[in-house]
Amino acid sequence: MPTRKKAVPASAPARVWKRDNAWNRLEASEREAVEAYCRDYVAFLSAAKTEREAYDLAVADLRARGFVDLEDLEREGGRLRAGLKVYRGCRGKTLMAAVIGRRPLEDGLHIVGGHTDAPRLDAKPVPLYQDGGVALLDTHYYGGIKKYQWVALPLALHGVVIRQDGSRLAICIGEAADDPVFAITDILPHLGKDQAAKTMAEGITGEGLNVLLGSLPAAAAADDPEVKDKVKLGILRLLEERYGMVEEDFASAELEVVPAGPARELGLDRSMLLGYGHDDRICAYAGLRALGDLEGTPEHTAVVLLCDKEEIGSVGATGMDSVFFENTVAEFLALARPRGGDLALRRCLERSRMLSADVNALHDPNYPEVSSPNNMAQINAGVVVAKYTGARGKSGSSDASAEFMAEVRRVFNEAGVVWQTGELGKVDGGGGGTIAMFLARYGMDVVDCGVGLFSMHAPWEVAGKLDAYMAYKGYRAFLAHTRR
Ligand code: MN
Ligand code: MN
Repeated sequence: MPTRKKAVPASAPARVWKRDNAWNRLEASEREAVEAYCRDYVAFLSAAKTEREAYDLAVADLRARGFVDLEDLEREGGRLRAGLKVYRGCRGKTLMAAVIGRRPLEDGLHIVGGHTDAPRLDAKPVPLYQDGGVALLDTHYYGGIKKYQWVALPLALHGVVIRQDGSRLAICIGEAADDPVFAITDILPHLGKDQAAKTMAEGITGEGLNVLLGSLPAAAAADDPEVKDKVKLGILRLLEERYGMVEEDFASAELEVVPAGPARELGLDRSMLLGYGHDDRICAYAGLRALGDLEGTPEHTAVVLLCDKEEIGSVGATGMDSVFFENTVAEFLALARPRGGDLALRRCLERSRMLSADVNALHDPNYPEVSSPNNMAQINAGVVVAKYTGARGKSGSSDASAEFMAEVRRVFNEAGVVWQTGELGKVDGGGGGTIAMFLARYGMDVVDCGVGLFSMHAPWEVAGKLDAYMAYKGYRAFLAHTRR
């Protein structure tokens, strides 16, 4: 007797699943929500041009929403309880914020983790010098930049100077309408024959990224033959008069040269956003807003991580490869009742789920040669879920499990989040990584999920408004979701 075939469950008729621009599928009320969200994001991005500025704005926003500093809670003998909102910072740069859930911490966290540092030019410790009758600022670039993109555009100077006595001077020059700006000069095309013959990596060099600061000699020293570098002296006098700063103070400063001016709408239809540092403040802001906008008490503790140093490998005390996150979870467990020890910490980390909230690359019709068109994200087709990143055969990727991909897919579909898959360009075209692997090593489920960009790492990056909003909507659904 032949065995009878097992019945195949009836399924929906086959249909093509394809990514496309979702704008016209949104309800009018949701389109308004997209616009309102993007207005807030543009204001944040325009004001948060460094990791410190992003941190300060994030903490102010959290405090306004009732989050308390974990140190204050501890000092006052407080305890973690369901519904409590807390945050803990690291050196004014890295931040972890949480809404405590109903279940014990040991059952794991729902985490959205992004980064707030962005590619830029950092002033060297001895940056100020005079050459050819002008004063210049010597820089060392930070992160993966294409150097030729940083010449001949308006630049601003942001950062802090810590004086010997510990007093702190905040610097922000080049953003107000009547502020001066700075620039790095380029060779005129008339004399650019040799430069044009070089590769794009060599046409502008790292040591050539010197920022034009001034050209006036110091007035008092104008006729003094003993004084050399009169223009540099003029700049030093200005720094002393305006900021009470001396040249040696540069040694204990973090001054970042960034594109000057606010983020703004892009396109005749205003459907996109042009801004400096979308990577990764577009995801960091979405996570922060998602956590702040959570309604009620989530089942699992909801966490947002805003990290520094992602662009240089997540190293250092404020990078994701430090123990700040682990230490903060240990602090949480010490304030929980019953108090959790090391095993509870390990279990909490291993049972956590995370969206590594970082940007991805969009299919760019200008550069089809680096694309994998069916697999790269398209603008305004939704937040991008990327199973893996890496380079040369997924090297350096944490590669999310199919099971976790299914969970994220379910959560997003049930919440009406417009999402798409993504892949960072064609195979062997290059590659990149995120903070995903630093969390995955705890044994937790992690997947990359963020906004697709054009011109990633350029002084002005491009993002779609719908995508920015869907990152927020997706993160909020993920933080609040109930596991099955
Ligand atoms: Mn990034
Ligand atoms: Mn990046």
